[in-house]
Amino acid sequence: MQIIQIPCRQDNYAVLIHDDKTNQTILFDAPEHDAIAEVLETNGWQLDHMLITHYHFDHIEGAASLKAQFGGQVYGPKINAHELKCLDNPIDESHSLNLLGMDIKIFDTPGHKDDHICFYLADLKIAIVADVIFSMGCGRILDGNAAQMYQSIQKLLTLPVDTLFYCGHEYTTANGEFAISVEPNNIDLQTRVAEVKTLRAQSKPTVPTLLSDELKVNPFLRPNSSEIRKKLNMQSASDKAVFAKIRTLKDNF
Ligand SMILES: [Zn+2]
Repeated sequence: MQIIQIPCRQDNYAVLIHDDKTNQTILFDAPEHDAIAEVLETNGWQLDHMLITHYHFDHIEGAASLKAQFGGQVYGPKINAHELKCLDNPIDESHSLNLLGMDIKIFDTPGHKDDHICFYLADLKIAIVADVIFSMGCGRILDGNAAQMYQSIQKLLTLPVDTLFYCGHEYTTANGEFAISVEPNNIDLQTRVAEVKTLRAQSKPTVPTLLSDELKVNPFLRPNSSEIRKKLNMQSASDKAVFAKIRTLKDNF
């Protein structure tokens, strides 16, 4: 099984999974046509399934034209299904999928957008978390509220810590600058920020990222950190309240 992360647009990522045995291919999100079409054409692959995480323009712009050129069934959130005309299968976490012989678990993860869903492929130990969790960050709260986003993140934190998270964007440098501002003495965070600087200087991606690593450096997964709590003067607040405060601070950073 090959997993290919494709840089799209300015800072988006799509993910392709290809099974060499059956010659079948799944695409996760379709930020644009050309970058994804190039990978499919180079390898001589068709599309069998296209799975969409949410109906923001920069995750679906290529969906209709890729389907027209490479075929495949399109799956996307049941909520707001009208936002994607080429959708074949509206889905939410009450559904389970088995594609390419693999079970794909669906999580409803509102907060960034009310229709956002994430995918977990236990066989590959990967999750497609799109605009919910980024390396050292989390998605902006656009449609929903902080409590929803917090709940959505808690769902993803139930996954095994050796799960590799595929994020929707390359936002890691800016996220690291913010993370250091709320937890400056976190040695793991300092190390990660330095690593990201090196990777980006070589134009390399900083994601996917392991959940076990994010738990050490991502402030949105660390509302119980004593350093963060002290910094925000919220020593006795709930994790949810600390999370909401970190999100507000990041919005204004
Ligand atoms: Zn989005």
